[in-house]
Amino acid sequence: MGDAVRIAGFVKTTLQDWEGKNACMILLAGCNFRCPYCNRPELVGVPEESIDTSSILDYIKGNKDFLEAVVISGGEPTIHEDLYKLIGDLRKLKLKVKLDTNGSNPDLLDDLIGAKLVDKVCINIMAPLDPASYSKAAGMDVDVELIKKSLDILKGSGVSYEIRTVAVPGIIGHDSLKAMLNGLDGSESLIIQQFDGRNVSGAMKDLKPYPKPVLVKMAETSKGYVKRVRIRGL
Ligand code: SF4
Repeated sequence: MGDAVRIAGFVKTTLQDWEGKNACMILLAGCNFRCPYCNRPELVGVPEESIDTSSILDYIKGNKDFLEAVVISGGEPTIHEDLYKLIGDLRKLKLKVKLDTNGSNPDLLDDLIGAKLVDKVCINIMAPLDPASYSKAAGMDVDVELIKKSLDILKGSGVSYEIRTVAVPGIIGHDSLKAMLNGLDGSESLIIQQFDGRNVSGAMKDLKPYPKPVLVKMAETSKGYVKRVRIRGL
């Protein structure tokens, strides 16, 4: 069972999080994973205070000439039982909706897609889809069957989606990338995100990111499995 939606952050304009769209971004607090390289650690726990939804809706209403879309990110948005209501309210303002998720709640994802509440999904795939690799990446035991189910739902949904993986040294190397890609074969779009430790807390804070040629090689390898590959954050 999830909890009521808690909005920890609101970005008025982002041109990066949905290519080709003028979007705003709502950041929901709370996450069911504990990735040691998380660069939004302030969103993993649940804050005592949250931003009032009505103030965000008012801002959007006042800027409808400019805004065409909203990205819902976190944290992990699908842990919130009130996500339907939030997206429903955004839909009433005629916004396109993109959902960022770690893929751990396929049933809710399926329901949102079935209700035509999302136009695009970005699913964060962290490691090869086996329990040991995934649990290491997520910092806790993960049922990888849930992640696989989310991928299958997206592949069969007709909804635009992209897969994002962060190239974290020690979590994703060239061999583990290939193992991960075996589970993504035939997918539309992969983003290989450069690791950025600036906002990371804990042991991985000082981890050096891979140099550019390593990510370029990862992208070349990925092209054999996924139709479109991009590197972000170099
Ligand atoms: S799933 Fe995302 S928000 Fe949650 S701990 Fe991992 S990186 Fe952080």
